Amino acid sequence: METYLDYAATTPVRPEVVELVTRVLRENWGNASSPHATGRRARATVELARGQVARLVGCDPETICFTSGGTEANNLAVLGVACAAGRGHVVCSAIEHHSVLDACRALERKGFAVSWVQPDPEGVVAPEAFAACLRSDTVLACLMLVNNEVGSLQPVAEVSQLCHERGVVVHVDAVAAAGRTEIAVDALGADLLSVSAHKIYGPPGAGALFVRSGMELAPLFHGGGQERRRRPGTEDVAGVAGFGLAADLARQELTGWIDHLETLQRACWVAVMDLGVGARAMGPTNPQQHVPGMLSFTFPDWDGDALRTALDLRGIRVGAGAACSSGSTEPSHVLMAMGCSPEEAQTVVRLSFGCATELADVRRLVDALNEAVSLQREAMGC
Ligand code: PMP
Repeated sequence: METYLDYAATTPVRPEVVELVTRVLRENWGNASSPHATGRRARATVELARGQVARLVGCDPETICFTSGGTEANNLAVLGVACAAGRGHVVCSAIEHHSVLDACRALERKGFAVSWVQPDPEGVVAPEAFAACLRSDTVLACLMLVNNEVGSLQPVAEVSQLCHERGVVVHVDAVAAAGRTEIAVDALGADLLSVSAHKIYGPPGAGALFVRSGMELAPLFHGGGQERRRRPGTEDVAGVAGFGLAADLARQELTGWIDHLETLQRACWVAVMDLGVGARAMGPTNPQQHVPGMLSFTFPDWDGDALRTALDLRGIRVGAGAACSSGSTEPSHVLMAMGCSPEEAQTVVRLSFGCATELADVRRLVDALNEAVSLQREAMGC
């Protein structure tokens, strides 16, 4: 039996989405740029999906640019704004996903200056700390809406207001936020905002960047005129259609998901703490600052690799920080920025729940954790 508790890494594709993607691949495979009827049918599908994704984040459809996922959307935002500006300074939180961090590091190598804003020990960036880094030549500020390792909700609206007072463009990575909290580009004050289909039960390989109208953005790729020249390349009509449907359903079902995820999160937190094995919950203690359904624990007294392997052998799938960094021997940059030692950061177990998770899954996890810890105790002879 498999207990999947790694929804922050990816989610299972919903059956309705699988059905739609398959149908589009079979029956609606035209090139959306072709002027004939086959092309126009594909175009209509892409535009329907554009409207659905736009509704998820509260923007006009024309401001949605489809990409191959969150990574590309983030790179397009960061490199696109900076390259259009030519030079200057960028402010970036130290807990961004690698697709933002490493794009900023690439800018540093090109001669841009970058300031890194550290979070507090609970993984939240203070607006004042962010504002203190702004300079007269700052061209871009990057702050994610929800951190994908510890579930901390960032004060994006406050930060964008401070940035806009200084004329600075704000990019928001909302990939981990979708399906866990409401996203509204105007309320957040986002000028650019990234989302990804595979975090909301859509197909992997589809994403989008909201680009506020009038923004100057240099493309990453050169070629055709698709996506207003911002993202040339023949559209993945089936992927985009699946993303659109997933986005539509995520928007309609959000309130129910939040209730469900909150129940699981509370039960899991209590049960893991009750184990009495020295688990430390990472991330905000204030539920207002913590999205539901994403919990990270460190187990400082135990061997993290052995713990995660023992869980996997018992059919419990958990994360070890960001999935994209798995396989890397580096401890999580997020936990380190929150003040964890590298040794403690290596013991992290990230639990992320989704709409199919049940309380019985949480009980299975806790039993398996208990067994895994007992095994380590025996092995250590204590
Ligand atoms: N940003 C965040 C916060 C993420 O969690 C992820 C996925 N782990 C990405 C960006 C990258 O998205 P994608 O997997 O669609 O490239």
